[in-house]
Amino acid sequence: MSTTIPRVRFAPSPTGIMHIGNSRTALLNFLFAQQKNGVFVLRIEDTDPSRNFDPGAKIIIEDLAWLSLRFDEGPQAGGIYAPYFQSERHHIYQEKLEELIQKNLVYRCYCTEELLEKKRDRQKTLKQPPRYDRTCLKLSEQEIDEYAKNNTPFVWRFKLDSDQIIEITDLSRGIITFDLKHFSDFPLTRSDGSFTFMFSNFVDDVTMKITHVFRGEDHQSNTAGQAAMYLASGAPLPIFWHMPMLCNITGKKLSKRDFGFSLHDLRDAGYLPQAINNYLAIIGGSYTQEIMDMDELVQAIDFDHMSAGGQIKYDVEKLRWVNHEWIKRLAPHELEIATRPFLQAVYPEVGAFNDKKLAALLQEIKTDLHTLKDAVTALAFYFTAPEITKALVEQTLDATHSKAIAHLLADRLDTIEDVEGLKAATKQAGIPMKQLFWTMRLALTGQINGPGIHELITMLGVAESRNRLKAFINLFF
Ligand code: GLU
Ligand code: ZN
Repeated sequence: MSTTIPRVRFAPSPTGIMHIGNSRTALLNFLFAQQKNGVFVLRIEDTDPSRNFDPGAKIIIEDLAWLSLRFDEGPQAGGIYAPYFQSERHHIYQEKLEELIQKNLVYRCYCTEELLEKKRDRQKTLKQPPRYDRTCLKLSEQEIDEYAKNNTPFVWRFKLDSDQIIEITDLSRGIITFDLKHFSDFPLTRSDGSFTFMFSNFVDDVTMKITHVFRGEDHQSNTAGQAAMYLASGAPLPIFWHMPMLCNITGKKLSKRDFGFSLHDLRDAGYLPQAINNYLAIIGGSYTQEIMDMDELVQAIDFDHMSAGGQIKYDVEKLRWVNHEWIKRLAPHELEIATRPFLQAVYPEVGAFNDKKLAALLQEIKTDLHTLKDAVTALAFYFTAPEITKALVEQTLDATHSKAIAHLLADRLDTIEDVEGLKAATKQAGIPMKQLFWTMRLALTGQINGPGIHELITMLGVAESRNRLKAFINLFF
């Protein structure tokens, strides 16, 4: 057995939004590296300036930090295979290209985009697979000289051996074979001299000594050509994992219109990074214990038995449940720090609350929260006294009992914090305890469900509680 240290990478294009599929790819690479004592590399694939909305990949780096997906090598972190921005690696691609030219593995293609388009259309009409017809592989020396003399733009194409059948190892599917006669000689460069994704991505994986390439299933067809380049240049093939794409609950490919498509949607809606990681790691598998922190996930994921199932459903409802479980598990001060911005945005007075005060309020409602933002509604009563009308009382409560309770409360208004005394009096009056709780909650919060009576009085303070109860009692006198 070789003792190579596993090296994985996350190789996003800096388009400015980290979507949830990308986050999952990053997470699984990270978890794999953790489990196998490997190295997790971040490489920024920024060779397409038109798609480069996040120069410097600041957003990606922040998002990974928010998710606690620490990379060992990459921008800022550095590493022995730097630079980690493709835009700074042009010379490396150039060198590799020269090598392939020397080995006669590539050829110049002078076909214009227009011409290629026409050829593809014709193939379509003839119901032939759209493949490059190798016109330029058959050019005579003379023709090539002519083109060169005129400085005709060209691209370098990789010459596939159409008789070759390539085998690669996929983590979930096992051996996958590609019959190269079904593939096209693909371009390594663009006519402006820049390098294509196919080539730069391959060169980086080779030169960065990546041992495991885990990426979306949408790249599987690229793997054929890239594997051909590995073999042609004598580099050892990595193990691939073409990860199933995420789809929405109706089974359609996840799109921008689906809530939770972007990581920022989720963050802004009050989802915790722990919950997002947890959920993204467990979908696609089955686990008896579903709530797991990062260390537990590292232990639990069985990379040797990954299911090859077609699609993975991204179910925001399930994620909401996971988030709920995570909110319940947060320590009081963690919940306070995470929730404060959501509350402060709606109730500016929260800015003046000290940590202890806010943490105490949140403890009373935290089991009701599915997102951090839910705290805004759950605590609304605290900031604004409910408006209780006779009609509301009649709709919600038993008329006889509520009247009796109003009288009882009127008698005990000065000692309202003595909940035990109040309970005893209620019992003595023959009123069911539930009625007392419902009535008092309605009076204090506008709703019959919620925190306990004692807790509510503590949250609101005795004076404010008395005011609210007084307003309620007044409806009966
Ligand atoms: N930049 C490519 C993407 O974001 C990377 C694909 C790969 O991981 O090889 O899809
Ligand atoms: Zn051509």
